[in-house]
Amino acid sequence: MAAIDGLPPLRDIIARHGLDARKALGQNFLLDLNLTQKIARTAGPLEDVTVIEVGPGPGGLTRAILSLGAKKVIAIERDARCLPALAEIADFYPGRLEVIEGDALKIGFEDLATEGPVKIIANLPYNVGTQLLVNWLLPKAWPPFYQSMTLMFQREVGLRIVADADDDHYGRLGVLCGWRTNARMAFDVPPQAFSPPPKVTSSVVHLEPLESPIPCSAANLEKVTMAAFGQRRKMLRQSIKSIGGEALLAKADIDPQRRAETLSVEEFCRLANCL
Ligand code: SAM
Repeated sequence: MAAIDGLPPLRDIIARHGLDARKALGQNFLLDLNLTQKIARTAGPLEDVTVIEVGPGPGGLTRAILSLGAKKVIAIERDARCLPALAEIADFYPGRLEVIEGDALKIGFEDLATEGPVKIIANLPYNVGTQLLVNWLLPKAWPPFYQSMTLMFQREVGLRIVADADDDHYGRLGVLCGWRTNARMAFDVPPQAFSPPPKVTSSVVHLEPLESPIPCSAANLEKVTMAAFGQRRKMLRQSIKSIGGEALLAKADIDPQRRAETLSVEEFCRLANCL
């Protein structure tokens, strides 16, 4: 395996800093630096780009992003044990890595002082990954503060993110992602690529924000998708009864006999706008 930089192998760093993986923090570390480069490359050119990374851990993905020329990486890590390992990377790439110790769910990403275009790249902790994605899809302003998001999830979540109507994985997350972004599946990563190996396959997804999503209230869209997918096998006239049922469907010109999973994102927005 070719080295991507002059830093020690990740296994040595993990051993030297005693970074035994903690399940509660969703710690499954990627050890193959060529694989982490593949993830970083999925984000496209990184020169002049500030990358926001959540959960750098021992820094495998961070090193890949820096080795590919990102102007700066702002990395948010909750586990203080990782900070000395990350400080070694910061020394190797002077002025290009800023580490913030903290909980990414409590960070105001829009307020981070960033220069130039921003891309988010992360191998997300499974327990907060979906919530972070939803937060990034619903920032205060649109277009958002980032140019793209390249994120690793459990494959099951990745399939839900990129799902369209009539797909078994289509649901609230697919509608939200489809409303605001172009989302595509990039590639799968097998459990053996991690230490320790998780039980399931992971997937890297790439999302680019749409410049002008269909005008719609996020809160209303949430209401209709929650009702509709809450009883996804039932006809809409039944599943969305509590928020307007047949009258709402008539107003939105949608056949009350259809089921949630057959509605396009545009039709969900129409329903939300008729609420
Ligand atoms: N990026 C590394 C890699 O690819 O090998 C580690 C990825 S590991 C799946 C997730 C990382 O997120 C861990 O380092 C963990 O400590 C960190 N983490 C967990 N919860 C977090 C949170 N709420 N905010 C910031 N980091 C968190």
